Parts: sequence; structure tokens; C-alpha cells
Amino acid sequence: MIKGIVFDIKKYAVHDGPGIRTTVFLKGCPLSCIWCHNPESKGFAIEKIKKELRLGGKVLESMETVGREMTVREVMEEIEKDILFYEESGGGVTFSGGEVFVQHEFLLALLKSCKEKGIKTCVDTSGYVNRSILEKSIPLTDIFLYDIKLMDEELHKKYCGVPNRQILENFRVIYESGAEVRLRFPVIPSVTDTEDNLKKVAEFAAQFPGVPADLLPYHKIGKDKYRRLGQEYLMDGVEKPSDEYMQRIADFFNGYGIKTKTGG
Ligand code: SF4
Repeated sequence: MIKGIVFDIKKYAVHDGPGIRTTVFLKGCPLSCIWCHNPESKGFAIEKIKKELRLGGKVLESMETVGREMTVREVMEEIEKDILFYEESGGGVTFSGGEVFVQHEFLLALLKSCKEKGIKTCVDTSGYVNRSILEKSIPLTDIFLYDIKLMDEELHKKYCGVPNRQILENFRVIYESGAEVRLRFPVIPSVTDTEDNLKKVAEFAAQFPGVPADLLPYHKIGKDKYRRLGQEYLMDGVEKPSDEYMQRIADFFNGYGIKTKTGG
């Protein structure tokens, strides 16, 4: 029986693909993006995170477990509870992480079960996966949500902890297979939004006609989790980009013929 580690299942999600969705978050990621807002997703094992409850002037502390071992059947039972919402809204299930392909056997089994039950799927990935594994997922996936962060390999290693060559090659593999893919570009101030990177990402995206880009503005939602995990937050002092700034970036991409949407 195939089992995996799930760190969250979010119901009624509307930013992780079309329609109303259930997003299943799989634990573990080989990348270490400095802006990651799900630091509890990076570790491969079940772990504890400090939980704080504020009551008046008091703070009550306890430990919360992050990650739960689940079988494919258990995850599918959760997914199937909302099948009517998916059908009525054109939604489905999104598998996210962490990096979903870290648990590729579990992911492929879930995708296969969804396919058998006629549930539409999105796979949200960093693309950092062996090509042969990726290829197995293509016929089982309706839409790939594919992060492209930094085009310079050294900068990618510096800010995300791994090289990007495989990621860029895999994007082409998906595109050339004819599968639907959306490029997701996180706008991280002074990291991914440099003039050089914006130009190179837009040039890269323009090589794939018809692929839209989702521009994802940096936010600080994960900041407190770093403190509760006892980890340093390296983005202190960085502010969320304004709507006007995001519009300027959208205009820049549009100038390359790329259709954009701000947000997931
Ligand atoms: S790929 Fe995603 S989950 Fe992994 S470290 Fe980067 S932002 Fe976090």
C-alpha cells in the first residue's frame, strides 16, 4: 500500500488552479528558496512546530505536529468529499508542496486515482525532478503550475539551493508534450525582480507561445513560522510589492506577448 506524508489539505482553494479546488500539500522539498512561505514543508519527515495561543496578556505554548502519514485511499476520501464543487466550478485537485515529486510514487498513485474518477488535477512544481519521473506524470495531469524563479544558474543556486538547468529543460519537456502548463513567477524584491532576471524570464517564457504567466507577489505570511520553527527569516525588512509595481511587471511581460495574471 503506497503511503506518503501530507502536511496539509486545504479545502475550497481558489488560487491553485481553475474553479474550486482541494489542495493537497506533500511534505519535503530539495530546494531552499530564501523567501519560502511554507518552511514547515521543506523537511521530509514529520516534525513539530511551536504553536502559540494568545489569551489576554498571556501566551500559551504547545507543540503542533506537521505532517501526517496517509494512504492513497485516505487522501482520495478527502478529495472525493467535494466532488460536486469541482464539477460545478470547473475545479478539481491541486497537488502542491514542498516539492510534489519528492514523493513521486505517492503522487503518481494519487494522480492515477483522480484520473480514474474523472477528477481534474493540477500539479504545482518547482520542476526540480528527474525527467523520466516527470514524463510519467504528464498523461495523468491536466495542468502544470510550474515555477520559474531565476534564470542565472549561480543565482538560482544562491537563493534556491540547487541549479536550474534541469528545471528549464523540464519546462520544455512538458510544453513539447502538448500538456497545459502555466508559468509561475514569484516576484521577490531585489532577488527575482532585477532588470536582468525579468528580461531573461520574459525571453524564456516567450519561447513557449500560448503559455500564460502567473505573477506571484512576495508576501510575509510565512515569517512567523520561521520563528516558531527556530529558524532564521532571511527576508526581514522586505515589503510586499505594490499593485502598481506588479502591474508594471505584468506590462513588461505583456510586451513579450505573454498573457499574465497577478496572483495564483
Ligand atoms: S520550491 Fe517551493 S516549497 Fe520548496 S523551498 Fe522553494 S518556495 Fe519553498
